[in-house]
Amino acid sequence: MIMDKITGSKDLTVLALKIKEAGTIAISGHVNPDGDCVGACLGLYTYLRENYPEKTVDVYLEPINPKYTFLKYAPDIIHQEAAEAAGIPEFSYDLYFCMDCSEPERLGFARDYFENASFKVCIDHHITNKGFGDLMFIRPGESSTSEVLFSLMDYKKISMDCAEALYLGIVHDTGVFRHSNTTRKTMETAGALLDKGIRQEMIIDDTFFRKTYVQNQILGRALLESILVMDGYVIFSVISRKDMVFYGVDSSDLDGIVDQLRVTAGVECALLLYELEEQVYKVSMRSNSVIDVSKIALYFGGGGHKKAAGCTMSGKARDVINSITALIESQKLDLDREG
Ligand code: 5GP
Ligand code: MN
Repeated sequence: MIMDKITGSKDLTVLALKIKEAGTIAISGHVNPDGDCVGACLGLYTYLRENYPEKTVDVYLEPINPKYTFLKYAPDIIHQEAAEAAGIPEFSYDLYFCMDCSEPERLGFARDYFENASFKVCIDHHITNKGFGDLMFIRPGESSTSEVLFSLMDYKKISMDCAEALYLGIVHDTGVFRHSNTTRKTMETAGALLDKGIRQEMIIDDTFFRKTYVQNQILGRALLESILVMDGYVIFSVISRKDMVFYGVDSSDLDGIVDQLRVTAGVECALLLYELEEQVYKVSMRSNSVIDVSKIALYFGGGGHKKAAGCTMSGKARDVINSITALIESQKLDLDREG
């Protein structure tokens, strides 16, 4: 196993060699794919298709939000039904890229194809990723998997279409260059991508800021019903299945709600719960500075980053909130003690 230490070219050489040797290559990312996951998967797909036309390259993902379908090769994504109809689970790829995914379980339906592959490469930036696969590029210090991927590519071989995918990923995981994961290197990467002639304004406006009418309605509802606890240190909001049916929204329509809760003045942590099925909640957590929400998510079987993490929890919403706030409280006490 070779672990990337961002030290030099040796690992990159291995990667280039593996691509050269492989006849069949697959790419996939985490369930419920977000902008970075879609950007990294399609960025790599574009790069391989355009520069290695002799190879078979397949990309697997759950259905993506329509706002990402402007990416050139979005129609090439293979979804579960088509994959199963083609008998893919029995197929063994020479090379498999697992993108933006902190553990194999999060690959969803594509996990079988990943397990069957001869050589597995993991490209990620989640701090909770313990490492898996044969070759890993896991860089928690980088804003996005798309940023990690950019540094593994030959700049000359990046087309405008590939650059748009990578830029999308960076824009989404940095909240349009606002989060603390935005570094000088992030901005330099974004600059290098702009030089490829990408439609930056369209990508930012149409995929990040634009909301449908019902997305705004559910955002408004979540804000209206949000509750401050721990003397304003934590804010939370709960969206029930019933609300989601009423507004006709699904989970991808809830993007950005927890980020709006986070910027409430005085708040350190924001929690958004939405009901997946009766008394099963997907939890999104954000922090502003000191609380490490990745530790809390990990404790409940999830994962993520220090300031943005998630997990799935069962029980009454009230009990889920109480369990999480107890851990926030204990981290806060430790921090207060440390001074
Ligand atoms: P979000 O709250 O936007 O869904 O996710 C925030 C971050 O936490 C993302 O980087 C996402 O990949 C990670 N995350 C969210 N839910 C889970 C989960 O159930 N398991 C793991 N391992 N990571 C998660
Ligand atoms: Mn990411």
